[in-house]
Amino acid sequence: MAAAKNPRRRAGENKRAPQWDLILAALESWRRDLQKERAAAGNTAGDPSVSTVAEHYRRDPWAVLVSTILSLRTKDEVTLVCSKRLLEQAGSPAALLALPEAEVARLAYPAGFYRTKAASLRKIAAILLKEYGGAVPADMDALLALPGVGRKTANLVLIEAFDLPGICVDVHVHRISNRSGWVSSKTPEETEMALREKLPKKYWKGINALLVLYGQNLCRPVSPFCSRCVIKKHCARIGVETSR
Ligand code: SF4
Repeated sequence: MAAAKNPRRRAGENKRAPQWDLILAALESWRRDLQKERAAAGNTAGDPSVSTVAEHYRRDPWAVLVSTILSLRTKDEVTLVCSKRLLEQAGSPAALLALPEAEVARLAYPAGFYRTKAASLRKIAAILLKEYGGAVPADMDALLALPGVGRKTANLVLIEAFDLPGICVDVHVHRISNRSGWVSSKTPEETEMALREKLPKKYWKGINALLVLYGQNLCRPVSPFCSRCVIKKHCARIGVETSR
């Protein structure tokens, strides 16, 4: 691997406003090319698993909430399998609450922290039945009040289940947004708030899927592939010391 050194740049160096239309167009075009390449090679890997589950269950909010919770600290392919297995037996809050916690955990296995998630899901099901008639609320504050639901989960549920605007910030969105100099933030929550200020609303819903794919393939955590990057001219490469 040929490593290219890049002097460390200070946060905030990228002073110009990001050219969002050009950035998003370049990323969309890159994704289309990747999908064509994968299809030609017979590779069916596609969107992140929560999006796939959302499509499969026709954007049913309960299914989206369950799969989003299972997806935390879990690989996409595992999320997909255990979400479908759990939702077959627990397709509603009432159905999940009828299962013993140990059975919910067994169905959720091997998702990360599956026992903790099983306990949270039973508590969530009880709250939804008691306070919302068994429905999932389409409201950020109400979602954040549920056990085990943070901003990433709440945003993803609002986006995928209710088609509402939200910005889901995970490690990839946080890393790429800071490296590029689009934001200068310490936590994913700060990144979300900064992007809410800067990113045009029409791009909020789609930015997560694009940057997750980009972060998994090109803007990798260690030694990103800057030589092949389609948004290189929009990136300040803050903190990037070794690249390929
Ligand atoms: S230039 Fe490098 S650090 Fe910047 S977005 Fe592209 S791959 Fe990531």
